[in-house]
Amino acid sequence: MRKKRILSGMRPTGKLHIGHYVGALENWVKLQNEYESYHLIADYHVLTTDLNIENIYENSIDMLIDWLATGLDPKKSPMFRQSQIKEHTELALIFGMLITTSRLERNPTLKDQVRELNIENISFGYLGYPVLQASDILLYKGDAVPVGEDQVPHVEITREIARKFNSQYGDVFPEPVPLLTQFARLQGLDGSAKMSKSLGNTILLSDDPETVKAKMKKAVTDPKKIRKGDPGNPDICLVFSYHKKFNKEEVPEIDAGCRSGALGCVDCKMNCAAKISLFLEPIIEKRNYFEKNIDIVKDILADGEKKAKVTAGETMNDVRTKMKLG
Ligand code: SF4
Repeated sequence: MRKKRILSGMRPTGKLHIGHYVGALENWVKLQNEYESYHLIADYHVLTTDLNIENIYENSIDMLIDWLATGLDPKKSPMFRQSQIKEHTELALIFGMLITTSRLERNPTLKDQVRELNIENISFGYLGYPVLQASDILLYKGDAVPVGEDQVPHVEITREIARKFNSQYGDVFPEPVPLLTQFARLQGLDGSAKMSKSLGNTILLSDDPETVKAKMKKAVTDPKKIRKGDPGNPDICLVFSYHKKFNKEEVPEIDAGCRSGALGCVDCKMNCAAKISLFLEPIIEKRNYFEKNIDIVKDILADGEKKAKVTAGETMNDVRTKMKLG
């Protein structure tokens, strides 16, 4: 019996940040030992919100290097670009017939994003984003999908499409379950709910110690703690949430020092910056290796795409046979 399979992916927006690590990569690295993992560079998905994709290849390579540097193992997990596996779009076309537009319009994630990004006119592709995502997952017969809370409605749509296909044409697809990421999303340096390059509030996985320090200086803290000696509230401090992730051992001491006022924010931030840089050190080292050996990265991608094509081809054979399209 084959190992259970997961499909996970990211849009290639270039170099990744620590929020990507905490919200996804850390989990993917653990899961690759337990599941047969497929990792998708979702380059077609970028088009749903940005038609200007002239740097898509460079961004894909940068993201792939971050995946490898944080511990994804290409021997365990094929990594590939969505645009290179034609079956994604073929299956998305078929799936588009199995779901109504009103169902897609009711998608709460879509409503949130439209509000967040201030989108006035939704394209057909943007509305159908979860359909393409369903094809990404089901093309590899994913049993599970590692996601954050906000993506759970999309997995539900994938499940509905799988059910609809199976009842209409015969069993081909599993109904994948969401595997929720354990750690809550990492806030941005400006206190925004999420770290995002477009908001300019990130610490990149490739940032050197001086850059991390400079960025941490700007991080928001408890606004009532103005100077050392003022008692603060770590529970509402962004820097403290970073300590909880990257400096677990010192959390009780920092908590007490902040509340009593004995600890000043500048020292606290610089300590946090040092711990984050310590965490980034081996990642940057591996990054540098892959950047200097870019042919290895390209070979990994080519190999991943070869493996993905085989699985995708097998699934499409099943689909065509059941639909009598053979
Ligand atoms: S001392 Fe540290 S935890 Fe407390 S408010 Fe300042 S930065 Fe935040």
